[in-house]
Amino acid sequence: MSLSIADALTQENDTEVTLNGWVQDFRVLKTVSFIVLRDHTGVLQVTVKKDKEVLQKAISSLQRETVVSVRGKLNKEALTKNGIEVIADSLTVLNKSATPLPLGVIDKVNADIETRLNNRFIDLRKEENNLIFRSESEVLWGIRKYLHEQKFIEVHTPKIVAAATEGGADLFPVQYFEKNAYLNQSPQLYKEILISAGFNRVFEVGPAFRAEKHNTPRHLNEFTSIDIEMGFSDHTDAMRMLQESIKSGIRQLKSTLGDSLSSHGINLPEPPDEFPKITYNECIELLSNRNEVVNFGSDFTPENLKIIGSEFPSFYFITEWPSELRAFYTMPKPGQESLSNSFDLQFKEFEITSGAQRVHDPDMLELRFRKKGLNPEDFSFYSNAFRYGMPPHAGWGLGLERLTMIMLNMHNIREVTLFPRDRTRISP
Ligand code: ATP
Repeated sequence: MSLSIADALTQENDTEVTLNGWVQDFRVLKTVSFIVLRDHTGVLQVTVKKDKEVLQKAISSLQRETVVSVRGKLNKEALTKNGIEVIADSLTVLNKSATPLPLGVIDKVNADIETRLNNRFIDLRKEENNLIFRSESEVLWGIRKYLHEQKFIEVHTPKIVAAATEGGADLFPVQYFEKNAYLNQSPQLYKEILISAGFNRVFEVGPAFRAEKHNTPRHLNEFTSIDIEMGFSDHTDAMRMLQESIKSGIRQLKSTLGDSLSSHGINLPEPPDEFPKITYNECIELLSNRNEVVNFGSDFTPENLKIIGSEFPSFYFITEWPSELRAFYTMPKPGQESLSNSFDLQFKEFEITSGAQRVHDPDMLELRFRKKGLNPEDFSFYSNAFRYGMPPHAGWGLGLERLTMIMLNMHNIREVTLFPRDRTRISP
């Protein structure tokens, strides 16, 4: 049976091993040839001695990135960097790579992002790029684990829908047989229905589609949203759940890939035990002390968020957003209806999550539809669930790519998206 390179390294000197992988690089000399073999766990030198003629022949027809199978003996007293090599007895080419490569795997200079994304299959063979997605998987696993421990169940809601979640704009239309439909912007309405259905705590990890026309380093037209909704809870419960989920994600990543990341110069954020909170109105005050005028009801610009973020070295919440800035399902603050029981989670200047307590009273919901200029009839599939016993509830939506981006200190969301969908790109 073949071993991974990482597993082979743990075997005794002289053990016979079979390794499969890519020829990352090779050198043919007079008396000996060397291959740098790479698999999903690392690289290892394969040494081919001159006396093995058949092998020399195979080596002379090699290309970089050809897929091979090597059988040989482990030498743990080699003159290589890690002191280990495999002395080859046989070398089989499983699939030859074409030449020239569209993109180098070991080139020091990085190609531009467009070339990289066009050739993503090979761009991801670079260790540092591959590490991004292994990191994302660990962070998500840490969050999933925490939510499971907290008795959330993972659900899957439809992505082809009849009504807009966040209002009428930014929707991708879909021709659904004789009807008009849309790609869902968020699982919001469905996860709320599931609270009425008695599940109490649900979460979903799935795609969200936004037909936003702008092209920025932090927006995609299809992103992955981690959404939760919890019954008999308010916004403060949801904020605590978010804080602990993020901490669990970082713990998981640190314990598995922390060393690999730091060897690439990436140091993970140290989240504070309690994430600080600042209200929307306090942010306005902070900005006005810096001679930035923001009127109540306006959203913060990226420049405003830079200033606010400079006061906070890590994660923090901005709470009590104006009701007019939030979606119809957001609970107004009792006794001060111009504000809402809502929050965003920020990391420095970047928004990574928004959440809130939701409206659970059907009459209030009807009013909120009208206030936002929405036709309540379009939402009857949703509001019906409120008429027959809907618990108070709260939740949030966290962008997985945004989270990965800020954790790994990347500056373009496309870096942390396998196959990004943006204003101009739908392929590969
Ligand atoms: P922004 O103001 O940054 O455009 P938003 O207020 O529209 O975001 P929400 O609808 O509140 O975002 O979505 C919740 C979370 O989903 C955001 O905090 C973010 O992490 C993620 N998100 C939203 N839109 C996008 C997008 N276009 N691309 C990537 N992630 C997104």
